[in-house]
Amino acid sequence: MKIIKTKEEVISTIINEENILIVQDIDGVCIPLVQDPLKRELNKEYIRSVSKLRESFSVLTCGEHEGRRGVNRLVEKSLNSKTKAKEDGLYLPGLAACGVEFQDRFSNLTHPGIENKEIDFLARVPKMMRSMLTNELKIFLPKLSNELREKLIEVAICDTRFTPTLNFNEIFNYVKNDFGKVKRLQLIMEKIMNNLLEESKSFGLENSFYLHMMPNLGLKGGKERIKYATKDEFGTTDIQFIINGAIKEAGLLLILNKYISNKTGIHPFGAEFNVRNAPKTLNELVNLCRKKIPNDQMPLLIGVGDTVTSVKDNKSNSWLRGGSDRGFLTLIQRLGETYKKENQVIFVNSSNDEVLRPRVEGSDMTGISDTDDYLKFNLVINDGPEEYIKWFQQLANKF
Ligand SMILES: [Mg+2]
Repeated sequence: MKIIKTKEEVISTIINEENILIVQDIDGVCIPLVQDPLKRELNKEYIRSVSKLRESFSVLTCGEHEGRRGVNRLVEKSLNSKTKAKEDGLYLPGLAACGVEFQDRFSNLTHPGIENKEIDFLARVPKMMRSMLTNELKIFLPKLSNELREKLIEVAICDTRFTPTLNFNEIFNYVKNDFGKVKRLQLIMEKIMNNLLEESKSFGLENSFYLHMMPNLGLKGGKERIKYATKDEFGTTDIQFIINGAIKEAGLLLILNKYISNKTGIHPFGAEFNVRNAPKTLNELVNLCRKKIPNDQMPLLIGVGDTVTSVKDNKSNSWLRGGSDRGFLTLIQRLGETYKKENQVIFVNSSNDEVLRPRVEGSDMTGISDTDDYLKFNLVINDGPEEYIKWFQQLANKF
């Protein structure tokens, strides 16, 4: 099988199959990466194209649908109408908050697997982040004016409902060319987030939460490894405080569960299935699919993401592979092999002037993949969301 295909070849692979499901990340794929998440914008034509795909499309994102920072606000803003979004079912359907916020295209929401006391604690987190960050910045950047410090903190704290996040892009920008300082700021970020985890324990929520680093260097001892700055790139810019078990690969099974129940009336993994009671490893997830989903019910899967990393660890001479999209894209590739379907893995180069990331340049995948990497891309979208949206429109017009 030919691995790297042209954009046209991928479209014909998809439309030649009747039963298909596109599972797509959002930021960096259909929304350009920006330093201030409140400045994100969603393309109107893209929203229309998504609605043409109906049940064959689902997002899978660590961002959120609802709230002032939610993608639903971007949809309404782009269409200039909430009524239209609601009546025409133009919201992006699928799974957000890394797997715990589900909605259909009319924005009917559910929160599979979350408890109320967890939601209560999460509501306190942004305030705690603010006070810890204020203290840290007063020490680390003592010359910063109160006004500018407030401004940087405002941008750094994403007060989302299920995934409150520290995003240091603007703060890194402030110390721009000094990678030593960026690394020290990353240590501060890590310290604040670890303090929050400690705090959650005193609320009896020992196993409720997890730190998700973007980008990261894979797992070590069940925790994600932060990627510290080097002279070539910033490394980790965001740390999210998320619900334990909320990982995208488990989310893929939740999406499959809904997709198949829409078609057959039966949830293959049971109606109560959620990311928290889902198996934890890739092998177990594949095995569960094999056991519960017969071949004729399994759709051809198309996975789209922009955050995949691979960095050589010189000490152990091995590759540290991570990135929040790696897991679900790898699972899609594995399921394709298991079910003998031509599942497609699409990578979007999301690096831009505002947010610097490694990018694929022809056969050079430094920082993203390596020759020993199991995960292979079928298509690389070179020029980011703008080019992806054009390709996506071409695909949607054939439906
Ligand atoms: Mg992304």
